Amino acid sequence: MSTHAPHAPNGPGLARSVTLPATLDEAVAALAAIPAAVPVAGGTDLMASVNAGQLRPAALVGLGHISEIRGWEYLDGHGLLGAGLTHARMGRPDFAALFPALAAAARAAGPPQIRNAGTLGGNVVTAAPTGDTLPVLAALEAVLVIAGPGGARREVPIGHLLAGMDMLRPGEILGHLRVPLLHAPQAFLKATGRTGPSRAVASAAVVLDPARRGVRCAIGAVAPMPLRPLEAEQWVASLIDWSVVTQRGASALAPEALDAFGQYVAMACIPDPPPAEDGAAAPVLPPAALQLRRTVAALARRGLGRALA
Ligand SMILES: Cc1cc2nc3c(=O)[nH]c(=O)nc-3n(C[C@H](O)[C@H](O)[C@H](O)COP(=O)(O)OP(=O)(O)OC[C@H]3O[C@@H](n4cnc5c(N)ncnc54)[C@H](O)[C@@H]3O)c2cc1C
Repeated sequence: MSTHAPHAPNGPGLARSVTLPATLDEAVAALAAIPAAVPVAGGTDLMASVNAGQLRPAALVGLGHISEIRGWEYLDGHGLLGAGLTHARMGRPDFAALFPALAAAARAAGPPQIRNAGTLGGNVVTAAPTGDTLPVLAALEAVLVIAGPGGARREVPIGHLLAGMDMLRPGEILGHLRVPLLHAPQAFLKATGRTGPSRAVASAAVVLDPARRGVRCAIGAVAPMPLRPLEAEQWVASLIDWSVVTQRGASALAPEALDAFGQYVAMACIPDPPPAEDGAAAPVLPPAALQLRRTVAALARRGLGRALA
């Protein structure tokens, strides 16, 4: 482990020491040695919090020198993706050939300087509603491999972490993500409020799983965590001719079926308010919510259409 000499703080938010471990277990040990230390990968989220005065880390454990989490490998039909993969790396064609929706989300995650530094692990641990990789990971049902003290590793489904059911514990580091290789079309689409790179107003990931004859869809940014419209998934999966689904495509669905899927997904994610109990007029969704529902419907319809094209 190489530890930089303590830095003299130049400002109120700067950490007093920065440790640069070379392995995951060294990073976990560094966190144990300085319990107030905070891990930092690309720093794009962390420094935004420091600059906004929301965070004043006493010490930092930099993850950028841990080569074991900067790439990916194949393992038992899965990709084992390092948490230190940058968005720029995930956007490259060799990665996109295996994980097309994740690559599309990574390409959409902010301007180039952010994609060059920002990592998959940072996106997951920050768990912002607008995190672009999150709906894809939810649709793929990714599993997090978390490193803890004494060389321990434990696995947590992404949905459990995002729902707050099983969080990272103090001293733990997200090392890898286990993502199934589905060998079938996938899509990620993102709507933003303006042109150019910016945060999602809504996003949709659609993946086909021919082995399980399943369609999995997750909608991002409209709720604190990605939403899975399970009934809509099951309904549309029953319409697909799975005998012709290949890595390159599938048989198209009728436009009416794609429209109905979009509506089904949107109603599940942004439902009507419950009817009033006292006989008063039924409450209606405000215009902004109706507009968001239309956006979600369009993203889900186009996402499925693109996956089946
Ligand atoms: C201008 C700007 C635009 C952006 N646009 C987008 C966008 O369009 N879409 C989008 O999704 N995001 C966007 N982001 C957010 C950010 O770039 C991503 O969330 C990025 O993936 C964060 O990764 P990082 O490596 O920089 O995380 P860091 O900032 O290094 O860390 C973020 C948090 O995760 C923790 N952490 C990091 N890695 C680990 C690990 N392996 N184990 C345990 N804890 C860890 C840190 O302690 C910290 O709490 C934007 C950010 C900025 C500043």
